[in-house]
Amino acid sequence: MKFTRRAFVLTSGAVVGLPAWARFAWAAPPPREADIAVVGAGAAGIAAARRVLAAGRSVVVVEATGQIGGRCLTDAATFGVPFDRGARWLYNPDSNPVARLARPLGFEITPAPRGQRLRIGRRNARAGEMEDFLAALVRVNRAIGDAARGKADSPCLDALPKDLGEWRATAEFVLGPLGTGKDLKDISVMDFARAAERSGDSFCRQGLGALLTKLAAGVPVATATPATRIVWSNRGAEIETPAGRIAARAVIVTASTNVLAAGRIKFSPELPRRVLDAAARLGLGSSDRIALELPGNPLGLARDDVVIEQSNGARTGALLANVGGSSLCTVEVAGGFGRELSAQGEAAMVAFATEWLGRMYGSDIAASVRRTAVTQWNAMPYVLGARSVAAPGGQPSRKILGEPLGALSFAGEATHETLWGTVGGAWESGERAAEAALRRIGALKPEPAAATTRRKKKRNN
Ligand SMILES: Cc1cc2nc3c(=O)[nH]c(=O)nc-3n(C[C@H](O)[C@H](O)[C@H](O)COP(=O)(O)OP(=O)(O)OC[C@H]3O[C@@H](n4cnc5c(N)ncnc54)[C@H](O)[C@@H]3O)c2cc1C
Repeated sequence: MKFTRRAFVLTSGAVVGLPAWARFAWAAPPPREADIAVVGAGAAGIAAARRVLAAGRSVVVVEATGQIGGRCLTDAATFGVPFDRGARWLYNPDSNPVARLARPLGFEITPAPRGQRLRIGRRNARAGEMEDFLAALVRVNRAIGDAARGKADSPCLDALPKDLGEWRATAEFVLGPLGTGKDLKDISVMDFARAAERSGDSFCRQGLGALLTKLAAGVPVATATPATRIVWSNRGAEIETPAGRIAARAVIVTASTNVLAAGRIKFSPELPRRVLDAAARLGLGSSDRIALELPGNPLGLARDDVVIEQSNGARTGALLANVGGSSLCTVEVAGGFGRELSAQGEAAMVAFATEWLGRMYGSDIAASVRRTAVTQWNAMPYVLGARSVAAPGGQPSRKILGEPLGALSFAGEATHETLWGTVGGAWESGERAAEAALRRIGALKPEPAAATTRRKKKRNN
C-alpha cells in the first residue's frame, strides 16, 4: 500500500549546449559588467544564467555562500554516501526540467520505492488501516479544495472535517509540516489548492546538490560574493558586492522570500511596499533533517523506505531509511515543532530522533547510532528557512513578486504559482525570468500578444 507524494502534498529550456565563449569557469573577482546579472546560484539562478548564455548574451551570477545549489545541497563527505541536506525528491520526473537534464549528464534518477510504511505504535499499519488513512487524506484535500472555491481565503486547518478521529494529527502532519514545512493553520487554502500535482517522486542517486553543481558547469558564478545593495531603474541596474560593483542591463534576484523580507539585500530605490508585503506573506516554512548512521539495519527496513507514524500530536517526524542501500537514515522534522526543535541544536535534534525511532522500533536503537549530522535551514543566513508557503490571504503574492520592476525582477520557487516549494518550480521560474529579461534588452523577440493571452489563460486555469 502506498501513500503517494500527491497524497502527502496535495491530497496534499532545456538549454542545449552553451556558447563556446561561455564554457569556462573564472575566478573572482567577477567582471564589472554583463548583459544580465543574477543574484543567487540555486536552481532558479542557474536556470536563468543558462538561458541567458544559450541566447548568446553575457551573464554573471553572484552567490553569497561558498557553494552552488542553494537549497539543493549534497554532503558527500560526512557519511561516505550522498546526503541531500535540502531538496531530495524530483516530482513529476517526466516533465521536471531538472530530471530531464540530469540523465544525459549521467546522473541516475531513481523512482522512490512504492511501498511506504505507516507505523501504529510498534507495528506496521494493516491494509485496512492504511486505507482509512488514505481516505482521510482524500477527504481533507477535498475539503480544502472546496474551501478554496469560496470568496475569501482562510487557513487550511479551518477546512478540516471534524470527524477525522484518530487520523487527524497524522493527516495534519503529512499535509502541513511534511508536505510544505508549515502547520495547516498557517497555510492559505487557495495556495494549497493551486499547487500542481507532485507525484512520481524520484531522487537523484548522486544527490540533487551534486546535480545542480554539474548543471552550473560553464556558468560564470562568483561564489562567496554576496549582493549587498542593488541600485535599479528602468534603464539598468548595478549590484554592489564586497568584490566590487557589477553593472547590468537587467538583474534577476533569486534570494528566498525570507532573505528579502529580512532586508538582507538593500535596494535603491527601496522596493515598493507591495513587493515587500508579498515576500513576507510567502514566508518560508521549516524543514530539517536529522541524519543518523545506523549500521547493521537495526530497523529491519528496506533501502529507501519511507516511514511515518500514526501520531497523536505535532511531535512527530518522517523517516527515510537506508538511503541508497547505505546505513544512513534521516528523520525529517518540520512545521512549528520542527522549527522549535532545530532552534535547540544538534543534541536535542538527535535525542528526539533516537527517542522517536526507539518508540517505534525498540529502545535499543539509541545504542546503534554512530555518526550524526543535522541541518538547520532557518539559521542559514542566505536562505532562512525551507520553502515558501502563502499565509492565508497571501496566494496573490506569488504573482506580485514575479512582476518585473523596471530592469529588476525576482525569480525563485516562491514566484511559481503552482510548483512553489519545488526544485522544478524554481528552475522554471529562473528560465521564465531570464526570457523576460532577454526580451527587455532586445535579445529575444517580444512575445506575440496572442501567446501572452493564451499563457495567461492557461496559468489561470
Ligand atoms: C529541507 C528541505 C527539503 C526540501 N525538499 C524538497 C524536495 O524534496 N523536492 C523539491 O522539489 N523541493 C524541495 N525543497 C525545496 C527546494 O529546495 C527549493 O524550492 C529550491 O531549491 C529553491 O531554489 P531557488 O533557486 O528558488 O532558491 P535557493 O535555492 O534558496 O537559491 C537562492 C540562492 O541565493 C543565494 N543568496 C541569497 N542571498 C544572496 C545575496 N545577498 N547575494 C548573493 N546570493 C544570495 C543563496 O545563498 C542561494 O544559493 C526542499 C527544501 C528544503 C530546505
